[in-house]
Amino acid sequence: MNFFKQTTLIGIGLIGSSIARALKKKRLTKKICIFSRTKKTINKAKKLKLGNFYTNNLEKSVEGSDLIIICTPLSTYKNILDKISNHIMPNTILTDVGSAKLNAVKIFSKLKNVKFNILPAHPIAGTEKSGPESGFAELFNKRWCVITPMGKNNKQSLNKLKKLWNTFGSKVQIMNANNHDKILAITSHMPHLISYAIVSSSLKANAKEKSQIIKFSAGGFRDFTRIAASDPTMWRDIFIDNKRNLLKIVVEFEKSLNLIKQYIKKNKSDKLQEVFIKTKKIRKLIEKEKQE
Ligand code: NAP
Repeated sequence: MNFFKQTTLIGIGLIGSSIARALKKKRLTKKICIFSRTKKTINKAKKLKLGNFYTNNLEKSVEGSDLIIICTPLSTYKNILDKISNHIMPNTILTDVGSAKLNAVKIFSKLKNVKFNILPAHPIAGTEKSGPESGFAELFNKRWCVITPMGKNNKQSLNKLKKLWNTFGSKVQIMNANNHDKILAITSHMPHLISYAIVSSSLKANAKEKSQIIKFSAGGFRDFTRIAASDPTMWRDIFIDNKRNLLKIVVEFEKSLNLIKQYIKKNKSDKLQEVFIKTKKIRKLIEKEKQE
């Protein structure tokens, strides 16, 4: 099908390598150029045969590409764009996969004399794993990909990017970056923050208690540890980029936590049950949405 002549993946971790696999499986590009910062990751990508050309030189990695996808932590964007922007061909699609969008859009909008199409995006798909060995072509199947267009973009490029994600099996939603960050703060960033907080609270236990926590870790705690095992750099960057929305949700969370704390303290069983009945309804709505 070959929508693209040459695709550059800047970053070849979980997401970049899943895109490489999906591009190859669906034959969407003739050639894949892979940038990674370290030799170690480049060698892993080579071994896995994820691309056709490998480099740790950003400028070289984008030359001749009509699709460039940034798949690195959010804090790397400025440096990457400083290096590549003068080497991008006119009409190329420049996109990304970053999990927070408003700050990314701000960084993209600082680029001057842009002759290519910037279409920030976020596939809402992932795991707690990192690196090129963790990716798989089906990662994006039946998952949402949000595109947050900005500035002047031709419709053709947007349609091409939408088609790319649709071919990966994703459902595409166009959204503004602000709205994306508000929603994702609730659905993804806050659950990660809570997981990091719960698991770090267990670090205070003494050695004997710790070994018992690990031994008897039942469903709940185990699930939190899975989320809290997510990549530290990636999540550090998301929390800082989406600070404004995240801190608002933290305030709401503190209110709910205090309320539940009071109900427990005062033995208000009915009130506790009321809260739990309401939260169960949210779960039902999510399950219904999944089936549709
Ligand atoms: P990852 O597996 O940790 O891979 C990160 C990639 O970025 C590697 O190629 C790494 O290169 C490179 N990198 C790291 N620090 C760098 C730096 N300072 N300068 C240049 N390159 C650097 O990460 P990932 O999970 O694929 O996440 C990548 C992006 O996808 C992030 O922006 C994240 O927000 C977004 N995202 C992630 C998920 C998820 O569940 N993981 C889901 C949706 C979106 P080396 O290994 O060579 O150092």
